[in-house]
Amino acid sequence: MGRIVVLPSTVSDQIAAGEVVERPASIVKELVENALDAGASAITVELEEGGRELIRVSDDGIGMDADDVPLAVQRHATSKIRLVTDLIGVPTFGFRGEALASIASVSRFELESAPQGDGTVSGMRLTARGGKVEGVSEVARTHGTTVTVRKLFANVPARRKFLRSARSETRAAVEALTLLALMRLDVSFTLQSDGRKVLDAPRTALVADRITALYGAKLANQLVPVELQDAHLTVRGFVQRPAEARPAGRKAILFVNGRPFKDPFLVRAAEAGYRGTLPVGMRPSVLLTIELPGDRVDVNVHPAKLEVRFRDRFAVERAIEEAVRGALGVPAASAGASPWIGSQETRGAHWDREPWGQPSAQGLGDTPDLFSGAAGAAAGQPETQQILQVFATFLVFETPEGLTIVDQHSAHERVIYEATMAELTTGTAAGQRLLLPITLDLEPAELDVVDRSREWLSGIGYEVEPFGGSTVAIHAVPNPHPRFDATRCFEELVADLAKDRFGAVANRMERFAATYGCRAAVKAGQALDQAERQRLVQQLFACELPPHDVHGRPSIVQLPRHELERRFGRA
Ligand code: ADP
Ligand code: MG
Repeated sequence: MGRIVVLPSTVSDQIAAGEVVERPASIVKELVENALDAGASAITVELEEGGRELIRVSDDGIGMDADDVPLAVQRHATSKIRLVTDLIGVPTFGFRGEALASIASVSRFELESAPQGDGTVSGMRLTARGGKVEGVSEVARTHGTTVTVRKLFANVPARRKFLRSARSETRAAVEALTLLALMRLDVSFTLQSDGRKVLDAPRTALVADRITALYGAKLANQLVPVELQDAHLTVRGFVQRPAEARPAGRKAILFVNGRPFKDPFLVRAAEAGYRGTLPVGMRPSVLLTIELPGDRVDVNVHPAKLEVRFRDRFAVERAIEEAVRGALGVPAASAGASPWIGSQETRGAHWDREPWGQPSAQGLGDTPDLFSGAAGAAAGQPETQQILQVFATFLVFETPEGLTIVDQHSAHERVIYEATMAELTTGTAAGQRLLLPITLDLEPAELDVVDRSREWLSGIGYEVEPFGGSTVAIHAVPNPHPRFDATRCFEELVADLAKDRFGAVANRMERFAATYGCRAAVKAGQALDQAERQRLVQQLFACELPPHDVHGRPSIVQLPRHELERRFGRA
């Protein structure tokens, strides 16, 4: 007797269910995607006990005809593709036609649906248990669809046992819904868990409102917009200001062509964009969307569609890193800058075809123009704005966006760090030769540092030779500013390096440059004359990442003009 049998469909549906139906969150995802595919404008999700007892998704979409209701729960039944060629560049979420069948096979299932009709609406209700249809009957209801899933995995005890606590299943479901809600501002979403509303995102035209509704105003206010467009792809979204990054709890959200996916390498590429602004271990939140032509990406690698395959992955990684770096380099990324999110009225952050489009309409990318202040412009004469120094530490001046305050030490540190990195990688800064060498006694660990870093030391201008025993002779020194103390800087630099004080910085050359930047920079408390202030601010804004020092602290703080106006009751 032959041993091969064709599995009954209830069994094969359960096997298929393993692919799409992992836990309540994956059911929520499938059902909400169906609702979106059906053109819903309001979607509600209800959970009981984390979805173990009940998951219900209701929508006000186009609904189904009476004849289609029984078909919807059959495997490979779909209204979304007809031909294999339709598979290329599928615009809807679903197309495999197996979600409802799979879900029905592992639950007590109820589907109610009514099509958009004229006036009197009547719909159909289908009930099924363990994949077997129990009944189909007429029901009075308005157009749209409601799917109720009870007793998930009741007939597959092994899988029911693997469900986690109600709390963590609810959290996962909220996360899944949040991802969908981020992309569709034109649809309202709510989620209730055991009668408590845990997600409420009304329809809106502003991405800022949606981010605030989903993640709260605190994170929303810490974000700066990202936008980069090259020949093949567009990167948009939001990243957290470096100074707000924390070691835990960050969000790393990626979309490709409107669909969420996971990709640790792209998250790492985004973090690479923060290079030189974050202490090691700090994890910034990033929310990024990538748009690229359908033939450059395959989004259907995984049945739950969480992984994607890029034709040119390297190009995508590079674009992301560059996009994030660009976003952090603008004044809006500095501490205290007008929260981008809070000032959306002026920024036209609308979301239609391109959900996160055009956030940086004005101002954000501009360098404060110190040389065409209002007075100068009125007189038709470029005129240099005076920069105030307060507490011998901060430089204060006006920009079109408000009052800008620069920390002179942080700023100079950033300037020297970037210049040093450039010198060490491309050439050498000539030091000033000394008539009489400076001789210094060093600790063994420090001698070691000098030995190991001789090339870099000479790269920044220090020519150092052994002088016998524990003594070295310095024949040339750098001269980054008039108050520079070459001997003290050298001592501090080698001591820091010997103690590995910047050990957190991954790359050794970066560590060297950061340490030198910190020690060579003008200090807080040093008076700078007007020309020095001007030069420092100019150099700072010529940097790649002016707003952040190398320790992850801000070097620029902005007091937005509208904030001043608000406080004085002018707005
Ligand atoms: P797929 O989404 O891959 O087509 P599903 O099993 O999820 O497969 O759904 C099967 C079919 O049932 C869909 O193609 C669609 O025609 C119909 N359907 C499912 N959910 C809804 C809904 N919320 N509103 C209208 N039609 C729906
Ligand atoms: Mg579907």
